[in-house]
Amino acid sequence: MSESNQRARRTCVSCGINISGTNAAAFKCPDCGAQIYRCAKCRKQSNLYNCPDCGFEGP
Ligand SMILES: [Zn+2]
Ligand SMILES: [Zn+2]
Repeated sequence: MSESNQRARRTCVSCGINISGTNAAAFKCPDCGAQIYRCAKCRKQSNLYNCPDCGFEGP
């Protein structure tokens, strides 16, 4: 499984750490469909997230 063709930066939208190679959750913004990543820690704490594209805020 190679991810070398994906050059997009992967950072947690809640705390901003680099989550590449970690067990982070990936999902799409329900509003605009932008790809959003959240690290396992923030997922566990149910931190709010903000879509970097449209500003949607959600759990
Ligand atoms: Zn995080
Ligand atoms: Zn969005």
